[in-house]
Amino acid sequence: MKQLISIAIVLGSLTYIQSTEAASWRTCSGNKIKWDSNTVTMRASNVSFPSGSSYRSALQTVISRVNDNPSKFNFNLSTGDTSVGFDNGQNETWFTNDSDALDGAPAVAFSWTHCYWLFGWRHGIDEVDVVFNNNVTYTSSSNKSALNTYGGSARPFRTTATHEFGHALGLLHENRYYNIMGQDWDFIHANGNSTRAYLGEDAANGAVILYGTTGGYMEDVSLSHHKYLGTSGEYSRHQPTRLYNSSGGNLSRFGNSGEWVYRVNKGQTVRLELTAENNGKSYQSPAVGYYVSTNNYISTGDRRIGTGSLGLGRNIPYTFQRTLTIPSNLNSGQYYWLGAVIDYNGAISESSGVNNATYVRIYVNY
Ligand SMILES: [Zn+2]
Repeated sequence: MKQLISIAIVLGSLTYIQSTEAASWRTCSGNKIKWDSNTVTMRASNVSFPSGSSYRSALQTVISRVNDNPSKFNFNLSTGDTSVGFDNGQNETWFTNDSDALDGAPAVAFSWTHCYWLFGWRHGIDEVDVVFNNNVTYTSSSNKSALNTYGGSARPFRTTATHEFGHALGLLHENRYYNIMGQDWDFIHANGNSTRAYLGEDAANGAVILYGTTGGYMEDVSLSHHKYLGTSGEYSRHQPTRLYNSSGGNLSRFGNSGEWVYRVNKGQTVRLELTAENNGKSYQSPAVGYYVSTNNYISTGDRRIGTGSLGLGRNIPYTFQRTLTIPSNLNSGQYYWLGAVIDYNGAISESSGVNNATYVRIYVNY
């Protein structure tokens, strides 16, 4: 028996990252390392997430967003934990002042896993603790003006936490696609002045690969004005989607409140770039309405200047361009927002309709 255990320890180091499918996870002799159960309890520190605090409420929102995926897996959040610690058999989340423990990172998901052979491969996640660095300037807010993503001064807690709970469900970093498991702060949905952290298509697909597809109904499509840019080590980097001229060339632009504003002429043909995601269970072919708005909140009540449709399987995000004509009766010297609403006709019954619209800002030349 002792021999077997010592073999187990050696074999325990034989984990590697698989990379043949979209999302990534740890493996053990080819088996996916994941939770045995499809429901895992995560306990929140009562000191870090006290009753009535904006951080408890943000954490609750994040957990429900992570759970809003088409796999069988979900977290059960328990609040009020008065004794948190590593390797104590409980999955816990807290803020620490000990930056060294996190190696200076803004947050870390510490995972304890097993992988050994004992008359068959035994593998799984035993415990995950998600720890946030108190020395980082976080905001629990979802208002654009507060977030470093949009020129604000604080790191969004909600996207950071969504990334860490992605680790907690078994996902590793991902650098190939627009993905929450890459750089988190610019993996975000925005419409109007508010943002929404979300798990996204690739991570949701990873959850399905690990835990199987839910037996329940879960459909959701979304639009983002961010896209894949490239890699930063094992992280994907993202950038805002753009507006191009009719041949795909760059339009002149300037910065305003942390966002790009593209200069256009009345009657000009442009290409609007956005990223569509299918965060749900089934293939969808949503209709998309394109709008011009006098404010940054895009809705079906705005002036519609085009329609189209997309075919979206559940795999990886789809960044696309749509040719549109700037109406010739817009006012010169004025700002507008060119946007789109996915499933504008409400044909899909979705878990969230809040993430269906987004925009790129424009300025009409004289
Ligand atoms: Zn990470």
